[in-house]
Amino acid sequence: MRAALLFGAGDVRVENIPDPTLQRPTDAIVRVVLSCICGSDLHDYRGLPAQQQGLQMGHEMLGLVEETGSAVTGLKRGDLVVASWTAQDNTCEFCRAGNQVNCVHGEMLSAAQAELVRIPQASGTLRPLPVTSEAEAPLLRSLLTLADVYGTGHHAAKRAGVGAGDTVTVIGDGAVGLLAVLAARRLGAEQIVLMGRHRARTDLGREFGATDVVAERGEEGVAAVRDLTAGGSAKVIEAVGHRPAYDQAVGVVRPGGVISRVGVPQYEEAPIGVSSLFFRGITLTGGPAPVRSYMDELLPGILDGTVNPGRVFDSSIGLTDVPKGYAAMDARESLKVLVEL
Ligand SMILES: [Zn+2]
Repeated sequence: MRAALLFGAGDVRVENIPDPTLQRPTDAIVRVVLSCICGSDLHDYRGLPAQQQGLQMGHEMLGLVEETGSAVTGLKRGDLVVASWTAQDNTCEFCRAGNQVNCVHGEMLSAAQAELVRIPQASGTLRPLPVTSEAEAPLLRSLLTLADVYGTGHHAAKRAGVGAGDTVTVIGDGAVGLLAVLAARRLGAEQIVLMGRHRARTDLGREFGATDVVAERGEEGVAAVRDLTAGGSAKVIEAVGHRPAYDQAVGVVRPGGVISRVGVPQYEEAPIGVSSLFFRGITLTGGPAPVRSYMDELLPGILDGTVNPGRVFDSSIGLTDVPKGYAAMDARESLKVLVEL
């Protein structure tokens, strides 16, 4: 089969490699219909040291079940499924508590930019979809976002405790930030301030429900948000992962408020002391999204067209062009690249 492999920073190649095979009775093999490139893939794309053996890439995938191991239940050949970006049994104590990312049998998918992919813990990782692969393209794209970005945006809003009438500030106009806007709107937020400076992206953010856009950063950006929100936002979602975004979150949050981080932190040290969080009674929460636990809740709105999270895909390529897709996302020429097989 053909698969995208990363050989080092900036060096993605599409090569022929052996087809994946069932390794455990709980595995399934899925033929990929749609995959995509994630903002978090760019961390490796920018920083991986050169290597002889390429690493398979990709953790977002929608496809057709090809083969199931003897212990797999609830799935059969030909089912259209979406995978969550983490594999999990969906039955252990952590999974039952809605923390599938920390499943005792968990692992991260990292081979979804390929024609075929082996899915561990298939019964808990794959969710069958009530449509066929012949469904309309926009619907399939939106269903693919359940694998990560829509679920992650929703997780950010849930962890922030977003509810009816709330004021929410979302930091970051990447796909997750924009879908956090959509999720916050869906959960009833009334005022949603989106911090981002890429016009095409913030325009989509407005369509998803942002009521205000702040393009400024740093102290200027903080002042603008505090102005718009009468002194600060009770709910703040940080969807970037870099330290300046954390500092902005601390700057715009209202006393007693919540900062919910879903951008993968690229820093270990940041202020959490008396003046930054403690005295103002700020809650710091977030973390990686257990997207499997949100699929049942988010699916109906996609199926009935209430929401169209797949609009975050602003370009579409075939597997052969995956190297170009990485380059386009790295250069911020593309918001999120869809890979159609
Ligand atoms: Zn589990």
